[in-house]
Amino acid sequence: MNIIEKTEINLAVIQGCLSKMAIVPGEQGEPVRYTLRAGEERLDLNARLGKPLRLTWTGAIACTHCGRATKKSFAQGHCYPCFKKLAQCDTCIMKPETCHFFAGTCREPEWGERHCFQPHVVYLANSSGLKVGITRGTQVPTRWLDQGAIQALPILQVETRQQSGFVEMLFKEEVADRTNWRAMLKGEIEPLDLCAERDRLLARLEGGLANLHERFGAEAIQVLEASPMAFDYPVLEFPRKIVSHNFDKNPVVAGTLLGLKGQYLILDSGVINLRKFTGYEVAVA
Ligand SMILES: [Zn+2]
Repeated sequence: MNIIEKTEINLAVIQGCLSKMAIVPGEQGEPVRYTLRAGEERLDLNARLGKPLRLTWTGAIACTHCGRATKKSFAQGHCYPCFKKLAQCDTCIMKPETCHFFAGTCREPEWGERHCFQPHVVYLANSSGLKVGITRGTQVPTRWLDQGAIQALPILQVETRQQSGFVEMLFKEEVADRTNWRAMLKGEIEPLDLCAERDRLLARLEGGLANLHERFGAEAIQVLEASPMAFDYPVLEFPRKIVSHNFDKNPVVAGTLLGLKGQYLILDSGVINLRKFTGYEVAVA
């Protein structure tokens, strides 16, 4: 093989460990923009719509925190020691109401101060119907795009992650907190009037919110006057039947790229949640 041919092949293939896709809102009515990230390499996925795409797992997984090779990925891309040691992998991140910082048992108190003792937003979103969720203020709108929400509305701002957990627990009495990812990927989601839903829920949960105000102070939980946002995803064709690819079962994922929604690639051969495979080393062509 001569040098020119080698160069052409290098241009066509990128290789590295997967991070979650970078997703940003489109400008002026354009669909959301997706960038695949493999190590230092970047690939504009919107430009690949309607074209063949092939991802091949090399068999290697590197911990996204320490870089160590790991046979298995824990908590979306961590090695086992990091999974057991890092505050971001603790169960209180998924269930913020169980925050144990004040018991003196936070795995990394400084990390907790930087990430959990920061303003959080409680939002309503429409990913597969109405849901409630929480996120750090700085993670808006990334969080909604990662979930494949077609609409989102911030409704409350709270002082800490733990408070957001208590508020979410309250809202869960009335509304889902999960996305049905199969429904999200099929794309038959009816738009909702999120402002009307907010007003309905705030009225219905008035008593519970008053209790939280009493516990944390009137300033701690504030109603936001935000406008709803809407997102249009780059999808040529939604799948009628959902078949999932999984690198652990078949290291080659190939097909024509039909769409991008949430952290999923939609191929004519099936769908894959790339976030689930964070840290997996892949070659992309
Ligand atoms: Zn690690």
